[in-house]
Amino acid sequence: MKKIQMVDLKGQYEGIKTEVNEAIAEILESSAFINGPHVQAFQSELEEYLGVRHVIPCANGTDALQICMMGLGLEPGDEVITADFTFAATVEVIGLLQLTPVLVDVDLDTFNINIEAIEKAITPKTKAIVPVHLFGQCANMDEIMELAQKHNLYVIEDNAQAIGGSYYSKDGSKQKAGTIGHVGATSFFPSKNLGCYGDGGAIFTNNDELAHIIRGIVNHGMYKRYYHDVVGVNSRLDSIQAAVLRAKLPKLDHYNQKRWEAAAKYSKAFAGQEHIVVPKISCGCEIQKSVCDCHVFHQYTLRITNGKRDGLVQHLNDNSVPCGVYYPVPLHRQKAYLDERYKENDFPVTNQLVNEVISLPMHTELDNEQIDFIAKLVIDFVNS
Ligand SMILES: *Cc1c(COP(=O)(O)O)cnc(C)c1O
Repeated sequence: MKKIQMVDLKGQYEGIKTEVNEAIAEILESSAFINGPHVQAFQSELEEYLGVRHVIPCANGTDALQICMMGLGLEPGDEVITADFTFAATVEVIGLLQLTPVLVDVDLDTFNINIEAIEKAITPKTKAIVPVHLFGQCANMDEIMELAQKHNLYVIEDNAQAIGGSYYSKDGSKQKAGTIGHVGATSFFPSKNLGCYGDGGAIFTNNDELAHIIRGIVNHGMYKRYYHDVVGVNSRLDSIQAAVLRAKLPKLDHYNQKRWEAAAKYSKAFAGQEHIVVPKISCGCEIQKSVCDCHVFHQYTLRITNGKRDGLVQHLNDNSVPCGVYYPVPLHRQKAYLDERYKENDFPVTNQLVNEVISLPMHTELDNEQIDFIAKLVIDFVNS
């Protein structure tokens, strides 16, 4: 059996090696390291793929989130509602801009932000909601957009984990994750579903005016060279990263399909297990029967409900199987984000999830033998 890895970037590289190496060699020859033709081309190709009017590339996903909030003109003291159960980047940029983060609980079955909790948290100071499409599946965007409209709020999608995925609305329409809210942010960190070979990120919007504002912000607030109309930042996607992303974008659907297939095999192996809860597919697809883009499985995350999660992490590591606990501490209990307004019983689900979740190896190169081996280790240990 091949050595099991959490993500297998090397294996994926083998499939695009010639193209990537040639593009990088060409960039080295041309010295167009910043804002070269690959960046422009990638931007257009991603706009086309997502069906969105504007893609604005930037330096990383954290910057992308920050720039969205700057572009919308959010001001110190404005409240921004987001999920307690997510990566810290989401709440970090809210804090950096001196906005007030308002963390709320999530749903037990999808790990995504809870609608009633959002509604309860809205105050006259609330300006935006940041749903995070955690582990590759969209939050309940129908309800979030409805709430936002009712209360006149912006919706900023944190799409770092769900690129290439789609959201299926109640009305039967389908939109790409990250293009549903007023603005969306994504990350091209190497291990993301569409990852480059360094740092990278992008912002998506269908709003022409907002896109214009944001294009200036990413470039030192300049709309005309050396005229700085607003306070901006320096946040660029470099040409080498754009070239890598151009090689991978045409394969993204295939990569995401491979992830779904691996997830389906895991879920089949865990079917009927009393103490192992497999991820829920919220669009209603039956995971063993069809391949669907409503979940792109950035992570395949189980809940271990009999208290053996920590033991399982150790057991897998002892057997050279990598795994991850995303995330072990709720944001409301992180030192940097403590706030006396938070009460422990406002976060029953997050508090439960941090003790139960475990993410198994998930990437485009997993084979059946590896999945069977991992599943057997998990089942034997949890039932021992
Ligand atoms: C990875 C990630 C980010 C940050 O992206 P970087 O490119 O690493 O800055 C933000 N939010 C979520 C949910 C992420 O998973």
